[in-house]
Amino acid sequence: MRVDPKRQRERMVSEQLVSRGIKDARVLAVMGELPRHLFVEEALARQAYMDAPLPIGEGQTISQPYIVALMSELLMVEPGMKVLEIGTGSGYQSAVLAKLGADVYTVERIPKLCTRARERLLSLGLFNIHVKQDDGTLGWPSAAPFDRIIVTAGGPEVPAPLVEQLAEDGRLVIPVGSSRRSQRLILVERQPDGPQWSEVCPVAFVDLVGEHGW
Ligand code: SAH
Repeated sequence: MRVDPKRQRERMVSEQLVSRGIKDARVLAVMGELPRHLFVEEALARQAYMDAPLPIGEGQTISQPYIVALMSELLMVEPGMKVLEIGTGSGYQSAVLAKLGADVYTVERIPKLCTRARERLLSLGLFNIHVKQDDGTLGWPSAAPFDRIIVTAGGPEVPAPLVEQLAEDGRLVIPVGSSRRSQRLILVERQPDGPQWSEVCPVAFVDLVGEHGW
């Protein structure tokens, strides 16, 4: 099966990201280069650049490109920052963060996805990503604090350990909802006078399952 990934990526960037208001030039450049088709099963490679989430096995999904771009832009990652991701899934979002120059710590609860993502990221030469199998709602205490935290699964609340593990001036982006499969994307900024919350938009993520999840 032949795809022309470079052309598909260019179209994805202009038709799905720029047209919907993604402006961060570094995010656009990274997503324009990263081979998203290598993060899905070969049978789905042809659909990898479509405007949709795709199944990655174990009942989980790789997020729609626009959502990856939006969350990456909201995080405002600078090179050298320490970033925690909860919900490794395919490893695509981790790879975007690593390409933005972050030192990435990512946690996945499903062992099979965790192993596959680790192998995939290493095979792509992305060595600044640490992958752990665990309940990510507990964060990664031994590596904290984190400059940025991103949660790519939706739960009923913002897990308290994550706010605790966020550095001063840190930013946390997370989908939160009172019912499953329908959430609001929340940005938490940790400022000297306490955390500031803002709502970004409605989203639909798979469940965040764990002690501070569903
Ligand atoms: N960021 C991923 C997509 C995530 S899908 C990508 O780029 O492909 C959401 C993932 O969160 C699923 O793989 C699911 O198993 C995982 N997940 C759900 N609850 C979790 C938890 N408590 N800790 C870690 N991972 C969790």
